[in-house]
Amino acid sequence: MTSSIDSNGPMIWDVLIIGAGLAGLSAANDLHQAGLKVLVVDKGRGLGGRLAGRRIGDATFDHGAQFMTARDSRFKASVAEWIEAGVAEEWYSSYPGHPNGHPRYRGVPTMTAVAKYLATDMNVLRTTRVDSIAHNDLHWSADLDSGETVNAKALLITSPVPQTIDLLASGNIAVPADKQARLDRIDYEACIAVMAVLDRPTAIPAPGATAFDQGPIGWISDNLQKGVSKIPAVTIHGSGAFSADHYEDDKMQTGQILIDAASPYLGDAKVTEYQVHGWRYSKPSVVDPEACMLLSESTNLPPLALAGDAFAGPRFEGAVLSGWAAAKSLITALA
Ligand SMILES: Cc1cc2nc3c(=O)[nH]c(=O)nc-3n(C[C@H](O)[C@H](O)[C@H](O)COP(=O)(O)OP(=O)(O)OC[C@H]3O[C@@H](n4cnc5c(N)ncnc54)[C@H](O)[C@@H]3O)c2cc1C
Repeated sequence: MTSSIDSNGPMIWDVLIIGAGLAGLSAANDLHQAGLKVLVVDKGRGLGGRLAGRRIGDATFDHGAQFMTARDSRFKASVAEWIEAGVAEEWYSSYPGHPNGHPRYRGVPTMTAVAKYLATDMNVLRTTRVDSIAHNDLHWSADLDSGETVNAKALLITSPVPQTIDLLASGNIAVPADKQARLDRIDYEACIAVMAVLDRPTAIPAPGATAFDQGPIGWISDNLQKGVSKIPAVTIHGSGAFSADHYEDDKMQTGQILIDAASPYLGDAKVTEYQVHGWRYSKPSVVDPEACMLLSESTNLPPLALAGDAFAGPRFEGAVLSGWAAAKSLITALA
């Protein structure tokens, strides 16, 4: 992993992937396995996109995705591999009011561990935004905010779809009307995430997390019980409705509303410090029925695919499945 382009890299990569989240990194692994030269570019400092960890002093938080579930057989095998590698473990399979649920797995020590594992041996350029894309008859080029340009035979975009639409517009890419309609239908929930350091443990019952169907809070998780943090620390996620209503408000004031609403779960613990992060595109609320979108199909464009959790399911597993599906489409398109 690096923050500048490897001067020994090819002049034209086989595949450029925008996004080092789960979809991008999962696709990168399959494309690399197929013998292709792949470069992944991400604007974020860390790896994993919406798998996100943060530290405040001695406290550590998962403040994006909290866990993964596994239904698909190949994905189950990957989870087993991650457990074997020590970057994931089963967190719980039931919690009060929801007995005998399917297993929830977590990253170890934090959710981002899985992304770091997937990035091993991959060419990943971090803290680098793709500002615009363009193409000629044979390949794609991407202008980076570092001032550099990257060329590739095929392009995979894995950003949340509204950002993908902007990137496509930057290159005046003519999107077929039926595909444009599918992209326009996709929608996301926002989520305001509070990370609060506490002076003592919470009153959240084992396994240390609770989901809510009503009220301002969607989810509360005890990072100490989860094994993420050395000291008491909670993540509070605003519900979709609350987060949408308050997204433009002062973040610290909105965070305080969520902390106040969480008081029954904090018990006697007092918040000593907190930070707030807004996820504008948290989880897709309307997804596309296909596992990925081969946008170049039946066009004169060089191979171009879109992937992410808006395609194969609005969660961790969906993002991975979508990345794999896009890799398969691009391997065929490049053959
Ligand atoms: C608060 C929250 C809680 C969640 N909880 C759960 C949960 O408990 N269980 C679950 O299964 N799922 C959960 N999810 C959903 C899960 O995190 C996502 O489904 C999954 O991580 C999406 O992966 P992705 O690769 O599709 O997208 P992302 O992770 O969003 O990856 C896209 C990447 O593209 C990069 N990017 C975008 N534009 C550019 C550009 N122009 N140039 C360079 N890079 C760019 C971004 O920086 C990002 O890293 C949660 C999400 C959030 C936000």
